[in-house]
Amino acid sequence: MSWLLLRGMLAGLAVLAGTVLGGWIGAASGSRWAGALVGGALLAGLFAVADGWRGRRLLGWLRAPETGPLPRQGSGFWGEIGYRVERALRLRDRAIEAERIRLEQFFSAIEASPNGVLLLDANDQIEWCNGVAADHFGLDPQRDRRQRVTNLVRAPAFVAYLQGGQFDDPVSFASAAGRRQFSVLVRPYGEGMKLVLSQDVSEQERAEAMRRDFVANVSHEIRTPLTVLAGFVETMATLQLSEVERRRVLTLMAQQTDRMQALVGDLLTLSQLEGSPRPSADRWVAVASLMKRAEADAAALSAGRHSISVSGGEGVEVAGDESELLSAVGNLVNNAVRYTPEGGRIEVRWSPRADGGAELDVIDSGAGIAREHLPRLTERFYRVDGSRSRETGGTGLGLSIVKHVIQRHGGEIDIQSEIGKGSRFRLVFPGARLRQRAGVAAAG
Ligand code: ADP
Repeated sequence: MSWLLLRGMLAGLAVLAGTVLGGWIGAASGSRWAGALVGGALLAGLFAVADGWRGRRLLGWLRAPETGPLPRQGSGFWGEIGYRVERALRLRDRAIEAERIRLEQFFSAIEASPNGVLLLDANDQIEWCNGVAADHFGLDPQRDRRQRVTNLVRAPAFVAYLQGGQFDDPVSFASAAGRRQFSVLVRPYGEGMKLVLSQDVSEQERAEAMRRDFVANVSHEIRTPLTVLAGFVETMATLQLSEVERRRVLTLMAQQTDRMQALVGDLLTLSQLEGSPRPSADRWVAVASLMKRAEADAAALSAGRHSISVSGGEGVEVAGDESELLSAVGNLVNNAVRYTPEGGRIEVRWSPRADGGAELDVIDSGAGIAREHLPRLTERFYRVDGSRSRETGGTGLGLSIVKHVIQRHGGEIDIQSEIGKGSRFRLVFPGARLRQRAGVAAAG
């Protein structure tokens, strides 16, 4: 109430001053009371006009506070009102700004989510979506705002799911090009609004398909020799065989068990490679001993049918696991012998590279491989000529083992081949995993 009292006193003082002044002037002209009345009324009017003018200024600013700062109101009643209004507005602006920053941080957090997030209103119109959802659904976050999502995303499975209203389980749908697979889950919130969460499950689907194929392939590979074996067992059990026939059947049975053993062996090697940590970088394997083993393996398999040459690697050591490296080189040499006709050439060569690394080449003059097969050769059970592979004891897993081994040693495999001209399988080792044994000069 203090301001009211103060203002009352001010107004009273003004009227009093006007009355006294008016009375004094009026006395000079013989009419003191009339003068006092006019003087009082005049100053009361002046006080009201000044008040109205300051109030109008404040109202004008309040109507458009964004146009500039509050005009100076001075002290007193209007000054205090101006100050209080301005402070209230400042506090409100600060609170709005803090909320805006919080909202921005919230959206940035959703934006950073690895999953797609799409907000739909009660009419399935897009309220907001993050970049991942825009990518999954093929949307433009700005342009498509307020558009009905089913007008833009036409995948029938998604449209039916959204319109069905049953959101207990997620739904899967393929991208327009069919190359990617998405899983989508809807969670209703607020008044008919929907939170749509999407996830790219292409990799999981691919891995799952590969696992299914793998199990089917293994079953098929094992079933074939098992069926043959079962047939022979039945033959031996039901027929009277001569000694010669019996020996022949036993030889064929041994071939089938060898085949199954080779397959199980390769499967175990693969699962070990996939399940164990990378070979340590401080166990050193002499390349010369790898080359010697390669030479011995090739000679034993070829049994003099090919000309074999092995060169390089003296004094060099490679960091890694000896049994894995022996298995990789063994597989390449084994293939070279098996896929090169009698009289052909097989060369195993170790050579340094300009970048400090080294390469191990297994080159043969065999039948060669058509270009279209090259990218798939290291896939499990991929064979160019299935019957030739099986006849020669192949499991279809050799190159897949080689690829795993070289990758675990930080290197890569490169295959070049031409029909009728032979093949070159190259293992490239990085310099970081190589060293020259002290006191031995580098050799090509
Ligand atoms: P496999 O046990 O069938 O030999 P791999 O994984 O070792 O399986 O090889 C995959 C396929 O690559 C083989 O089936 C064969 O068709 C082809 N291949 C591998 N090495 C050679 C080679 N040196 N010459 C020609 N073809 C080869």
